[in-house]
Amino acid sequence: MTATRVLVLNSGSSSVKYQLLDMTDSSRLAVGLVERIGEEGSRLVHEPLAGPGARGGKRERTGAIADHAQALRAVAEELAADGMGLDSPELAAVGHRVVHGGTRFTAPTVIDDEVLAEIRSLIPLAPLHNPANVTGIEVARELRGDLPQVAVFDTAFHSTMPEHVARYAIDAATAEKYSIRRYGFHGTSHAYVSRAAAALLGKAVEDVNVIVLHLGNGASASAVRGGVCVETSMGLTPLEGLVMGTRSGDLDPAVIFHLARVGGLSVDEIDSLLNKKSGLLGLCGDNDMREVTRRAEAGDDAARLALAAYVHRLKKYIGAYTAVLGRVDAVVFTAGVGENAAAVREAAVSGLEELGLALDLEANAVRSPEPRLISTDYARVAVAVVPTDEELEIATQAYALVTS
Ligand code: AMP
Repeated sequence: MTATRVLVLNSGSSSVKYQLLDMTDSSRLAVGLVERIGEEGSRLVHEPLAGPGARGGKRERTGAIADHAQALRAVAEELAADGMGLDSPELAAVGHRVVHGGTRFTAPTVIDDEVLAEIRSLIPLAPLHNPANVTGIEVARELRGDLPQVAVFDTAFHSTMPEHVARYAIDAATAEKYSIRRYGFHGTSHAYVSRAAAALLGKAVEDVNVIVLHLGNGASASAVRGGVCVETSMGLTPLEGLVMGTRSGDLDPAVIFHLARVGGLSVDEIDSLLNKKSGLLGLCGDNDMREVTRRAEAGDDAARLALAAYVHRLKKYIGAYTAVLGRVDAVVFTAGVGENAAAVREAAVSGLEELGLALDLEANAVRSPEPRLISTDYARVAVAVVPTDEELEIATQAYALVTS
């Protein structure tokens, strides 16, 4: 029996999201989520999508799940109950989402002890994310040590950024000493969406230049020339760039000195302020774009301001990346806000006719899970909505590596 299945694990600090995919047709066999690990009210929601179990729909388990090891064992049991257990000979690999790959990991990598140690050494660069990714890998190796475990890095797609784009204009020796440079994040999404956009345009990926706007709770833009990332908005950490749900995005670094010197805030307090209490949430008290747009439409001034700031930043990046690329074939919206918020797409593109952008408002208003064009026929630059699929991209990259 050939092994054609890949289990994708996305381990967060208190959650594990997973999907089992069959790479013969990229279909999903099971999806699920364990949340509130190590907290009150842990639960596992498992949904088999193939086999006899699929008829029963979602299953939920509640009760204490103390740690990631227990979480993954529970996931393994649920999969086994559907005849798709981790001991199945059909399983080819486990694909792990790893947020930070530093400068070392520029491609998906089979994990051995040395690779795991290196991922661990990158924790200072991604203290919120890499520890949970490491734990997920350790637990999966305990369960199926014989199976290839593949790390797919959020930063990898951006490793092609030219040096003068990746570097901050700070003292070179200090930057080198502390690994300070722009790494970029959401790379699996930008990779998947830029390729899918080329397919939507009916062109080879090498022949198209696209601006990808990944607008989820975290948000980032990228400029992709012929399939190669040349610029992205996130930097050393996911804090730089666009206005996000709870992150400020770009700001004068002196704001931090001011808060410390004049406000007396500690570094951790400023970190929390900028990462967790800023962005849409900071400006209007809500980080969910559904609520922000609803309030803005109802005339709420703070929500209008938040929306205007969000859209203004997007426009700046569309303009900047048009200049970076020289020729743009498509501007592509993806992720929760990009795929669903027609009003945000309309506002972000309006007034950019000189850049060749014009929306077909009827097409923009259509809700669909499919990749689609939303620009007018006469527009020089296509505007598209392409639903992202990071799990499929992780599975595709992991499977390609283990079968190559
Ligand atoms: P993601 O991080 O890609 O899962 O995106 C999550 C975000 O997408 C949420 O915080 C919402 O702000 C946003 N979102 C999801 N659905 C909608 C919708 N129908 N309209 C506007 N925003 C949405």
